[in-house]
Amino acid sequence: MQHIANVAGCSRQYVHQVVGGTRRKPGPSATSRLREFVKTHPKALTTKARGGMSLREIAAKLGVRPDVVGRAWRSLNLPDRREYTLSPSERAHRSYERNKERRRIAMYAWRAQNPDKERAIRLRAVQRLRSKVLRRERCVVCRRAFAWTQGQEARRKGRGQRIVCSVRCGILAGIRSRSTNPTRIPSVRVAGQRSDTRTARK
Ligand SMILES: [Zn+2]
Repeated sequence: MQHIANVAGCSRQYVHQVVGGTRRKPGPSATSRLREFVKTHPKALTTKARGGMSLREIAAKLGVRPDVVGRAWRSLNLPDRREYTLSPSERAHRSYERNKERRRIAMYAWRAQNPDKERAIRLRAVQRLRSKVLRRERCVVCRRAFAWTQGQEARRKGRGQRIVCSVRCGILAGIRSRSTNPTRIPSVRVAGQRSDTRTARK
């Protein structure tokens, strides 16, 4: 090599490139094959996670090593694959989707084995939801401002609970509405059912 370089008057590296290059030439052929491959397989441009192909798969198709594909990819100026990688939330969602069936089965199995704990957890969750403060309200009876919770809101929507701060104010409000709205009394008495009382109060 050195001799050829000396005779030709060029560097040894150049001789390597010309002579040695033509002998192995995995680089150029891999590059041109990759160029053809992405033309015929456009989905190979995106990553596996985006419905495309992994470099490893492309390499297997071309019969070369993945790092050779990586170099050829850059030399062809193909789209940067990093922009197709998943965000942390996307990865978390896919992980959830992959494992949710297994987790669901495990959860039911645990529930069946620990009914008391399951019940306690469920009651705590309901209690937490009910005690969540939605806003400040003013009692319609005593005018006192108080915290209005999710549980009270549910009872207001479901059975027409009045906006009152206490049981005492609730009773007073009931008496007051019956005395100020005498038209409501007959409907309650005729029906004689609590459910009608509730609807009448709405
Ligand atoms: Zn009150």
